[in-house]
Parts: sequence; C-alpha cells; structure tokens
Amino acid sequence: MGQSLIATAKQFGTEEQCLAFLEALRWPDGLRCLSCGSDKVARIVTNETTRERKNRKGEIREVRVPARRLYQCNNERCRYQYSATTGTIFDKSHLPLAKWFMAVAIIANAKKGVSAKQMQRDLECSYPTAWFLDHRIREAMQDGTLGMFTGTVEVDATFVGGKYDKRRKKSKYDKQAVAGVIQRGEDGEPSKVKAFVVPNEIKPVMMGVITENIAVEAEIMTDEHRSYHALTSLGRKHQAVRHSTKEYVRGNVHTNGIENFWSLFKRGVIGSFHQVSVKHLHRYLNEFSFRFNQRECEDLFTLIIMNLAIGNALRYKALIGKTAESKSSEIQ
Ligand SMILES: [Zn+2]
Repeated sequence: MGQSLIATAKQFGTEEQCLAFLEALRWPDGLRCLSCGSDKVARIVTNETTRERKNRKGEIREVRVPARRLYQCNNERCRYQYSATTGTIFDKSHLPLAKWFMAVAIIANAKKGVSAKQMQRDLECSYPTAWFLDHRIREAMQDGTLGMFTGTVEVDATFVGGKYDKRRKKSKYDKQAVAGVIQRGEDGEPSKVKAFVVPNEIKPVMMGVITENIAVEAEIMTDEHRSYHALTSLGRKHQAVRHSTKEYVRGNVHTNGIENFWSLFKRGVIGSFHQVSVKHLHRYLNEFSFRFNQRECEDLFTLIIMNLAIGNALRYKALIGKTAESKSSEIQ
C-alpha cells in the first residue's frame, strides 16, 4: 500500500523535503563522496543566479538558475560537488522532485494502474510529461530476480486485445499472447507471479517458459492445451484440468490463481488504459506483477522511489560511492 496523497503533499511538498528523503535513502550510514568515497563531506547551498541562454530565434535571454543544495567533498585532492539526485533518473529531469514524488504516490495507490490522461489531470502537467512519468515509474516497478518457482506452480497463456487496425481495415482486434506462472504458497493461495509477452504461436513457447521459470521438482498445473502434452514424457509432474468438459477444479488441480491474475490485468488494461500498444505491453505486465508480488509491502511508495533512484543493483555501488575501495586506500 502507498500512503495517502494528502500525506505525500505534506511530506514531500518542497524540493528540500524530497532531497532530504533521497539523501536518507541513498546514504543510510551517512554521506559519502560519490567520487572518492570519503565521509568528510560538506553541505553547501549555491546562490540563485541568472544565466544567458539563446532561444530558438537566436535572441539572448537571461534565465534564472535556482539555488541548489549540493554536497562538496572535503578531501583536498577531490573536492567533488554533487547532489542527492546525481546519477539518478531525477537528475536528468526538469520536473520538480515534488511532482515526481506525487506521481509515484498516485501510481502506488492505484490498484488498477493510472492512465497518462489521469496523471495529466492530477499533476496539472502536459500530456507528454505525464506519459513520460507514467512509463519511467512503471519501469521502476520491477521485481528483482524471483528465482525458479517450485512447489505447486500454475502455468497459463492468454491473449490480450490490441488495437483495431484502421489501415489494414481488419475487422477484428489484433491479439497479443502473454504467458504467466504463479507459485502457490503453503496455504494453497497464489504467492508470486511472473508474466511475459510471448509470440502468438504459443505451443513452442510454453516449454521454454516452463524450463526457464519452474524447478524440475515442481508440480505443474495447466489447462489441457496441447502446449503441455509433452510435459509428463519429459519427466515433469503435470496435472491438467479439463476445461472442455467444464471441469475447472479437481482437488488442488486448477489454474484459478493465474486466471484471476489475467482477469485483473485485462480489467486494468481495458478499464484504465483503453488501448495498450504491444510495444508497451510488457511494462504493464511488469506493473501488475510487481503490484501483486509486493501486495504485502507496507511502503510501496518508498520501494518505488528507491528503484527509481538507484535503478538496479549494479548501479547501486556507483551511486552510493565506492566505499569498499576507498577504505582500502585510506589504510595505505
Ligand atoms: Zn571526494
């Protein structure tokens, strides 16, 4: 769950508040220099100045450069200046941090997702800005590696409606195949999900999905689609529910978990986004999977801000400063 929008507005209404939050997230053990790793860092605030800039007509105009809150390394040989946003996605953005934070709170709160149109209204920004925010935040809503699924695992594929093709005058909607796997918890309820866009010719694809995501010892639950016929002969534990004879549950044999996930996803896609181009479908799948997998996370807001700020684990080291190396150089 995210926090309320009013709480977000109070807590992160100013640039200063947002920067302090980012600082605490990035350097929980105290500030470090991003260049040399030193912990002797001073806080400075630059004065507001003006700068000359040419506009498109070639006229020179003065633009205001607002005061900046920076850190400066006290190491004589370094003196590196940086800020709480250096190296993060926020650094390359002209948007005030308060808008970024509000956008994250809106998305964290919306169970079914938020369209760029809605974001535009809520944030009082342009449509391109809302679209950009929407997609960047959605990209940050990704689970780390979830590993191989084991125990009882449901597998299913379905088709999601695409756009009506005016140019080719196709009278039906183009459909895109998506595949998903759900691992059940000890209580038999779905515990985690992975979902992907796959080629529409799903039969050859599903074996790959299973091999790459489901441990050999797992018990696999599917419908009776021919994609899964070879599983038993490959030594997999496999049970199929026979939808064709109106059989939907046979003891613990069913695919209700993954089917509920699909219906939630489809309602979200149709209800909030109306049209989703195939190019962006994987992002929406990521968002819905992330929301599902993090449903017990008490602070989705912070988790998303953290993902936005530090990106993946590889970038993490560069962002917090090379503390390990700097320590060894201090010893010498
Ligand atoms: Zn330094």
